[in-house]
Amino acid sequence: MSKGGVFVVSGPSGSGKDTVLKGLFAENPDILFSISSITRAMRPGEREGEKYNFISREHFEEMIKNDLLLEHNVFVGNYYGTPRIPVEKAVSEGRDIIIEVDVNGAAQIRKKLPEAVTVFIMPPSFAELKRRLVGRGTESEELIEKRLRSALDEIRRAEEYDYIIVNDDAAAASQSLMSVIKACRLKTERQKNIINEVLEKC
Ligand code: 5GP
Repeated sequence: MSKGGVFVVSGPSGSGKDTVLKGLFAENPDILFSISSITRAMRPGEREGEKYNFISREHFEEMIKNDLLLEHNVFVGNYYGTPRIPVEKAVSEGRDIIIEVDVNGAAQIRKKLPEAVTVFIMPPSFAELKRRLVGRGTESEELIEKRLRSALDEIRRAEEYDYIIVNDDAAAASQSLMSVIKACRLKTERQKNIINEVLEKC
């Protein structure tokens, strides 16, 4: 069986990447999502185990010590990390998996898994990103300020990615992301079996 693909998706808070991913998963339930372990407080509307596992700092540090994380980073004072085992399992079972991480996490994954495909979701403008972040109304002014500063740093590093998708229309952006995944599924590397299957029947 050929291996599954690892797709790393980043984009600053307010880039709308959650909506883009939601659209993609709604139409492609065969694609897996890597649930991150994080130490920040749960926001209204979030649910344990959906996008994140909300854990204590002690638990997180234990995971680091036991080499259970593929990557991890501190973002605005909290730990965020990708559990290693579910990603390895998906790949070995031939399933595609999406890992949503910040730019530092993406850099760590690139080093460990050079075959991973990386995609940056770009807001159409900084003004629009600011409008979305303020409009969310779930964070203090100070936190929003920190997230905006971090967004600028992330956008400056977008050129490290294989693909950039501008999210001015979430449905179109989901389609673009799916196009990237479909193209990777067509790579010869992932279709070696078909060569033998066709030759065996000749
Ligand atoms: P938020 O607090 O807005 O949900 O996420 C903050 C940032 O952390 C976003 O840029 C998001 O992509 C990133 N993030 C989410 N999960 C992970 C993870 O497992 N590892 C890393 N490095 N970043 C993550």
